[in-house]
Amino acid sequence: MLQEVALGQRSLADYTHIAGKDLIAEIRELAEGLEGKRVLHVSATAFGGGVSEILYTIVPLMRDIGLDAHWHVILGREDFFNVTKLMHNSLQGDPQAISDQQWEVFEAYNAMNAQGLADGWDVIIVHDPQPAGLYANAPEKSRHWVWRCHIDLSSPNPETLERMMPLISRYEASVWHMEQYVPEGISEGVRIVPPAIDPLSPKNMALSPEDAAFVCEQFGIDPERPLICQVSRFDPWKDPIGVIDAYRLVREEIPEVQLALVGSMATDDPEGWEFLQQTLAHADGDPDIKVLNNLNNVGAIEVNAFQSQADVCMQKSIREGFGLTVTEALWKGRPTIGGDVGGIPLQIIDGESGFLVSSVEEAAERTLQLLRDPELAKRLGKRGKEHARKNFLSPRLLRDWLRIFDDLGV
Ligand code: UDP
Repeated sequence: MLQEVALGQRSLADYTHIAGKDLIAEIRELAEGLEGKRVLHVSATAFGGGVSEILYTIVPLMRDIGLDAHWHVILGREDFFNVTKLMHNSLQGDPQAISDQQWEVFEAYNAMNAQGLADGWDVIIVHDPQPAGLYANAPEKSRHWVWRCHIDLSSPNPETLERMMPLISRYEASVWHMEQYVPEGISEGVRIVPPAIDPLSPKNMALSPEDAAFVCEQFGIDPERPLICQVSRFDPWKDPIGVIDAYRLVREEIPEVQLALVGSMATDDPEGWEFLQQTLAHADGDPDIKVLNNLNNVGAIEVNAFQSQADVCMQKSIREGFGLTVTEALWKGRPTIGGDVGGIPLQIIDGESGFLVSSVEEAAERTLQLLRDPELAKRLGKRGKEHARKNFLSPRLLRDWLRIFDDLGV
């Protein structure tokens, strides 16, 4: 059997003041026709990353409105997750190939998990490539099947995609962050639905400026001095090295500026550890660069505090599926600078709800502009928050799922 994830509670009514009465009413109306439907989400892990972040909120919300919703995680050991990590990188463009033997490992685990999958569902939503083979192995376990892709498939390693295609194209519907992530050859049942953050979770709930400053001080940040913050995994595509370079350019003009680089670490991610070391070497002992991670006790509340306290939130990615950290920063009303890639331009309308940049120099220039012009910073922050509120919060995502269920005749 797959493992059921234990969930907390959420009440849709609590979101009314944020999402607006109309959206909540639309959700309730859609939910009426779906009362008691058995919905199963399946993913590879309940810890870390955007998928679990989303499911911890969306599944309890589905329950709150009357669906019989569950979340199960597949079973896998190191050999399987080594292959799926490679697959993940490869589908996002890494040229390294997956060997026949590795594909066999992938297929064997999918077949085993399909066998252990509970049955009798109205709809199963399979998240990401790791469990994508479940449908092919056990179609009888649910009346409907949907595949939800959370990664950027716009320039994949063609060999890997070709082997995945028969698995993913057979789903009745597939759901993507953006149109350009949908591979050629999937035309039926395509839905474009960007992800969302939970405005009431500890990571995103309102924190008073005093509380945010108090938390930051405990990590050696001086709340009286300007702060640039980037929250992201230690990954070359998130470009923390470029953020340090931009900070150094800013410091030439504003010497009191500080930088916080906050990144969660996974014990099973050797690449992350190596890149953390490179980042630390690049920071070169500068006491005003704080490189922090979950092993320093940085959890959701701390991420909230750093983002809330920052004078400029940065997400200088070179590649980005969507960038939930951008949504999190915008939602806190902070002026945000993001790399002009992937899902970031959906969230940052350049000069309106933040700034888009394509180089270290541009990142530094925009940071200086924001630090020198608090009115501009405030204006962008306010518009950014409104943009996030309208488009990227959990109730909208819930509504979109209900519409999909409704259209499929779940
Ligand atoms: N995150 C976190 N602590 C960290 C680094 C990241 O909680 O030290 C969270 C971050 O707040 C966001 C998620 O991990 O909710 C990362 O999602 P995103 O879409 O930005 O990037 P991904 O890591 O999925 O590429």
